[in-house]
Amino acid sequence: MTDPILIVGAGQASIKAAETLRQKGYDGDLVLFGDEAFLPYQRPPLSKAYLKGEMDEERLFLRPEAYFEAAFVELRTRTSVTSIDPAAKSIALSDGTRLPYSSLLLATGTRARQIPLEGAALEGVFSLRTMADVAAIRASLNAAENVVILGGGYIGMEFAAVAAGLGKTVTVIEACRRVMERSVAPEISTYFQNLHRAHGVTLRLEQKVERLTGETTVTGAALGDGTQVPADLVLLAVGAVPVTELAQSAGLAVGSGITVDKYARTSAPGIYAAGDCTEFPSARYGRSIRLESVQNAIDQARIAAGSMLGETEAYDPVPWFWSDQYDAKLQIAALSSGYDRTEIEGDYDGGRFALRYFQGDRLLAVDTVNAPRDHMMARKLLARTGPDRDGTPANGTREAAA
Ligand SMILES: Cc1cc2nc3c(=O)[nH]c(=O)nc-3n(C[C@H](O)[C@H](O)[C@H](O)COP(=O)(O)OP(=O)(O)OC[C@H]3O[C@@H](n4cnc5c(N)ncnc54)[C@H](O)[C@@H]3O)c2cc1C
Repeated sequence: MTDPILIVGAGQASIKAAETLRQKGYDGDLVLFGDEAFLPYQRPPLSKAYLKGEMDEERLFLRPEAYFEAAFVELRTRTSVTSIDPAAKSIALSDGTRLPYSSLLLATGTRARQIPLEGAALEGVFSLRTMADVAAIRASLNAAENVVILGGGYIGMEFAAVAAGLGKTVTVIEACRRVMERSVAPEISTYFQNLHRAHGVTLRLEQKVERLTGETTVTGAALGDGTQVPADLVLLAVGAVPVTELAQSAGLAVGSGITVDKYARTSAPGIYAAGDCTEFPSARYGRSIRLESVQNAIDQARIAAGSMLGETEAYDPVPWFWSDQYDAKLQIAALSSGYDRTEIEGDYDGGRFALRYFQGDRLLAVDTVNAPRDHMMARKLLARTGPDRDGTPANGTREAAA
């Protein structure tokens, strides 16, 4: 009897890998280990519909419990994988058990970035990455009047939209000159800044938080310019870091994420990785990239599952991503950096438009607001017009730390 395929992490990438293995005819033992308490779930609604209370748990779960039994996939939640022995082809669990594998997939995702900030451990200070985080936030969000958000990236701005919608006094503090600066053009930042201001959100741009104040519970944020912003709930939305410790301590190559090749193979035979935790070579962008997106988790996991079964399909996606803020849906197709001009088509003031990024005559990427058809067409076009094979550097959409 051959050893099972084991998957570490029970999130977006793991589910896709497990499902693909079964669809492609793998009928051996298959076990998913997840250190959270829940069925595998989608994270995007955690800062959108689920946070607002407009989506229930059942819809958050990627598959119902019955799926695992029907597909003969053993799901072990509340179980941490603590080490890998690549030479013995085995893993160890938090309870000390050792298990052999034929192939191993690392789909360990990211964790919220923690920053050395005085007051960060006070009650009322949160990060937003897990269902447990949402439960904790909800418990104090109802009573909170003043909400302060550190970081004007996607999660910070989505949280601001939800909190403003609940009638809270919301302040976003962002060190850069504009929100979402690392991934979108100034016109897109301006559009969303205006939208947030119209909903009463205060944006403190080019500002740093010196410390959070309070005795046991947070009461405010002291800014670099000497001002004090009152707060009874603070969200730290300052990015995420890939979970790579397991790979690192097993001696696998790790750069900005767990290093994989275009087939999602790590540097150790029989060990694969997919999703937020990886960095992979992109022929399209002429360099290694790390993405944090549902698209990447799903598509790379599918490639990893195929590779485990001996297929040789290469991974080189047109990255795409979305963000919902109020009634505006931002959709991003491809990475935009290296652009030298933009063009807007549609009704910018009316909130329905496409912004195209060009380098010379070459279309690099397209952002759309409330124009899903244009987004779909852009993805198709960008896939057809093909990779940027001249090696131009790029960064953008949901690339690491966006
Ligand atoms: C609030 C929020 C909003 C988002 N919004 C969007 C969006 O609008 N669009 C978009 O494209 N993307 C969005 N994302 C990003 C998207 O959710 C991620 O890119 C995606 O979940 C990555 O999937 P993954 O499988 O790589 O990792 P994850 O889904 O994070 O799963 C990894 C799992 O592995 C577990 N794990 C780690 N180490 C171990 C171990 N040693 N043993 C056992 N288990 C372990 C982790 O606890 C976790 O449960 C959002 C993310 C967040 C947090």
